[in-house]
Formats: sequence, structure tokens, C-alpha cells
Amino acid sequence: MTTPTIKILKFGGASIKDAPSIHNVVEILRTYKGEPIVVIISAMGNTTNALEGIVKGYYSRSRDSVELLLALKHEHFKVLKELFREVDHPIFDEVNNTFVEIDWILEDSPHEKYDYLYDQIVSVGEMVASKIVSAYLNYKNISTRWLDVRDCIRTDSTYREGKVLWAETETKIIKTVPPLLSGHFLITQGFLGGTSENATTTLGREGSDYSAAIFAYALNAESVIIWKDVPGVLNADPRYFPEAKKIDCLSYREAIEIAYYGASVIHPKTIKPLQNKKISLYVRSFINPAAEGSLISELSPEFLPPILVLKQNQILISMEVKDFSFIAEENLSQIFYLFSRHRVKVNLMQNAAISFSVCCDHDEKIEPMIRELSEGFVVKSNHKLELLTIRHYTEDVINKYSVGKEILLEQKSRQTVQLVLRHGTDESNSASNT
Ligand code: ASP
Ligand code: MG
Repeated sequence: MTTPTIKILKFGGASIKDAPSIHNVVEILRTYKGEPIVVIISAMGNTTNALEGIVKGYYSRSRDSVELLLALKHEHFKVLKELFREVDHPIFDEVNNTFVEIDWILEDSPHEKYDYLYDQIVSVGEMVASKIVSAYLNYKNISTRWLDVRDCIRTDSTYREGKVLWAETETKIIKTVPPLLSGHFLITQGFLGGTSENATTTLGREGSDYSAAIFAYALNAESVIIWKDVPGVLNADPRYFPEAKKIDCLSYREAIEIAYYGASVIHPKTIKPLQNKKISLYVRSFINPAAEGSLISELSPEFLPPILVLKQNQILISMEVKDFSFIAEENLSQIFYLFSRHRVKVNLMQNAAISFSVCCDHDEKIEPMIRELSEGFVVKSNHKLELLTIRHYTEDVINKYSVGKEILLEQKSRQTVQLVLRHGTDESNSASNT
């Protein structure tokens, strides 16, 4: 007897942002009735951002986090009221009880570390959303089982970026999941994991794709299907490049490259587990579920158009040794140690005789890192920059997309060019000593 092959379906925040969207997800799932399906659910709409705001407000005491939480609960209950006609449906209490965990945290002053608190609070978004979707499916006569993913995906205790403990995770998934699949869809959370001490961890922002890949790997799934608000993998982000077009088919290698350079369509950690087991990844549109989408697999198409990846809000930091000596291995290891301690990710780097430059996302981690860096080096920075990566470039394409902008740094390999760009007219960008 052959075991029917499992599919992992992942629905992100945009696909369940309100009651009609959740209803749409139910209709998509209906087409899979009878198949063994694991459904990975993210937090609804912008819930994760809202929860981040609550953590920040609570930790720094700068905003009224209790009020923010009330607003978020209110949004969830509004959706519930649209989905369920009976106000005494058990889901109302269940959602309330899940949010209560945040109330309890907010009652006390913060004495735990920020990243730990972040994970305990932000994870509630996925817990609540998965409970709502699961209950609504049952309500619509599609039988589900709900699984607490923290019992399956085991991580170390690197809060906000839990490292998956693969052997334990695989064992737990293989033991728990298959018995729950016969006759039911299995609904669980993306983005979350649990430590051996039963603390909640998160896998990094937008990590639900990665969760889908973890389940697929452990279960030797047939495929993963990520449902998005775009028709598939496009050759550019349509928010910045309206001329963006869908790519029907691309290789794991190409996908991992563009995810690495910052294409937001798939979380970068998603590809490796799938590639290792040759599991197909489909990216499809929940707005147009009948359309084919894109397939990421072992097949590499002969022709690919230029693929553009734009990262905004970049900072270019250059550091020089104070005594005019060379930047060599010793300094570099010091610099990288500092970067890794501050969890700053480098998007691009370049070194010269006495200076070393890096381009990074300009987020809240940068200033404290620069302060420390300035103790040992002369540090200069330029901000409000863009990092444009073009795969399969031609000179024409480079010219087209850099026209009117100043190229502060350019790096080329055979397939890829990366440009750090500054808008020609922006005066706030003069190099500053930090
Ligand atoms: N809800 C989480 C986030 O917004 C995880 C995800 O969407 O994949 O980052
Ligand atoms: Mg999300």
C-alpha cells in the first residue's frame, strides 16, 4: 500500500486579514478535501507589527501597551463576529483566553530580557489566528485538528531567531502528525517553536514559510504551497516596479539566491530543507486560486529575465583603522564579532587598504553597534540609500535602473550585480562622522 502524499499549505497574514479573506481560505481548502493536508497559519493581517508595538511600548514604557492590546483584541473580535453567528460559540472564549497571556505579562513590570518577552507576546498572533481558522473550518463542516506547533518544532533558546533542533523536531513531527491527518486537515502555526523548557520562540520575521518547509522535510511531503497576494514569484517587487512579471518556473538555486538578496516572496531559510529532499514549492495567488503560480524545483529553465531585488532604507558604513594601518584579518574578525553580537546582518561588503565598508538595513540595531565600533575605528556612514541587486543583468538594465541616481558602490559577478544607490537630489545624505 502506498501512503498518500502529504501537502503543506501555508497561508500568510494577508490571506486571512479579515472575515471575507478567511472565508476565501476555507474555499481554497475545500478543493483539497480528502487529501492529507497540513495547514500553516500566520498571524492575521498586520497583527505581528501591532504586537511588536505592544512589546516595545511595554518594555520602554513609552506607549500605553494595554490600550494597544485592547485595539488588537477588538479587531479580532470584529472578525469573529462576522464569521460566527452565535456569540456563545466557544471560539470567543478561546481567543480571549489566548490573549489573556499578554494581559498577565503586561500587569508586571518587565524584568525578563527583551527578546524573550518579544517571543512570548508576539507568538500570540499565530496562536489566535490558527484557532480562528480551525474553528471556522469546523463550523463550515470541514473537519480539522489543531496542533500546538511548539510541541513539534523544537529550537534552542535564541529568542527571536530560534535555531531549529532538527533531529528532535523530525522525531516529534513524524510521531505526532500522521495520525492526525486521516479525515481531518491539520491546522498549526507558522513562525513559532518551543524550547525544551517549554518557552515559546520565534523563527525570525516572516518565518512561516520556513515552518512549512520544516514540516515538509520531516514528513517527506509531496509539495509545499505558499498562498500569496501576488500571482507567483515575480521578477521584481510590483510595489516598486509595476512592470514586474511572473516567472513560471525557477530552480532552488535561483530561489535561494533571490531570497538571500532580499526578495520578500519567500523566507530565505525555506529553500534548503526543500532542496535537500527535492520537494516542490509552489507560490500561488489566493486572489486567483485557479491560476497556476510559480514552481520552484530542481528544474532550471533555460532563460530567466533579469530579476530585480530592491532593499530600501540602507546604511553604508565605512570604518578605518585610527592609525592608518591596514584593515586586515585581525580587524575584520573584531568587526564581524561586533556585528554578530549586535545581530546586524551585512547585505554587502567591500574592503580597501585602510577601510572596510558594509551596507546594512538601517534598523534599531545599527546605532548602538556604530557607537561601539567608533571606539576602535573612524566610522563614517551614509543613510537613506537603496541596495539594488540584479540577477542576469545586462548593461542596459543597469543603466535603466540607476539613471538619475548616484552609485556609491558597485559589485559584479557573472550573474549578479549589486548597486548601492543614492537619489541624486537627496541632501540629507552627505557623509556624516558618527
Ligand atoms: N507573522 C509573522 C510575521 O509577520 C510570521 C510570518 O508572517 O511569516 O513576521
Ligand atoms: Mg505575517
